[in-house]
Amino acid sequence: MKIYAPEYYKNFKCIADHCRHSCCVGWEIDIDSDTAELYSTFEDGYGKNIRESMDTEGVPHFRLAANDRCPHLNDCGLCRIILELGEDYLCEICREHPRFYNDTRLGKEVGLGMSCEEACRIILSSDGYDKFIPVGELAGEPEACELDTVALREKIYVILSDSSLPYTVRRNEISRLFGVAELDDTSAKELISSLEYLDENHRELFLSYSSNASTPKNHEKALERALAYFIFRHCSEVFDADEYRAALGFCLFCEKLLASLIVSENAENEGDVIELARILSEEIEYSEDNTDAIISAFYDQNDDF
Ligand code: SF4
Repeated sequence: MKIYAPEYYKNFKCIADHCRHSCCVGWEIDIDSDTAELYSTFEDGYGKNIRESMDTEGVPHFRLAANDRCPHLNDCGLCRIILELGEDYLCEICREHPRFYNDTRLGKEVGLGMSCEEACRIILSSDGYDKFIPVGELAGEPEACELDTVALREKIYVILSDSSLPYTVRRNEISRLFGVAELDDTSAKELISSLEYLDENHRELFLSYSSNASTPKNHEKALERALAYFIFRHCSEVFDADEYRAALGFCLFCEKLLASLIVSENAENEGDVIELARILSEEIEYSEDNTDAIISAFYDQNDDF
């Protein structure tokens, strides 16, 4: 089966030591069983350090070093496993991050997650979110999807990319077409208060949510691309109309939250918007509990579309 990705995917390359929010800091990195088995055979050289850095209680993972850094991240922000042994020796999470995969009727799809600052920069600054290109091949067939989410996504992207209409009109038309009842400010803020946060300051930041947030014109393209990304990521592997509407509600909520952050933080340049989108992704999309809580708020709203 072919693997497809949005056109911008091919521009991604980890910026390693230039990254200000390295994914090798602050997260416990689980090691898949095949790689853990390989690491446990290492007896000398740098391999011995790798074996000794593993905690095999429960799911094998690297024991974090000071300041929650991966023990293999050197002072220059480079990975010593790559430097000493090569990329082939990375565990699955390190090899794949920030990629995510979905099965659709088109085949396997791969995207870049916005919590990675370089991926976020590419997603928010690139054209071509609606153009999917083959980027590889895999054995097997995609899981059969009852709902044709590729056709639904194409329909949404036609509306979203129609620059003859103001951005807000396009965005609201998508919401209307699929019968998504968006949250009022009180419900949205209650929901935001109830979420878990990696950084407690972000709870306060996110409470600036406003359903009337109207962003400056020069940031509308970034919002459009962010919404396209959320839809690609969260509305692809979806199995029925209720689930689709809830997933789309989640995407529109994230877009409105990003718009609110841009307004409340007075984000002026592209870099400010990218950083706010990265924070949003890290706090919301990369927390299964937060994602589930928001999606649940959009269930059982209307009849089938
Ligand atoms: S967050 Fe992205 S750019 Fe930064 S180190 Fe990780 S993969 Fe590389």
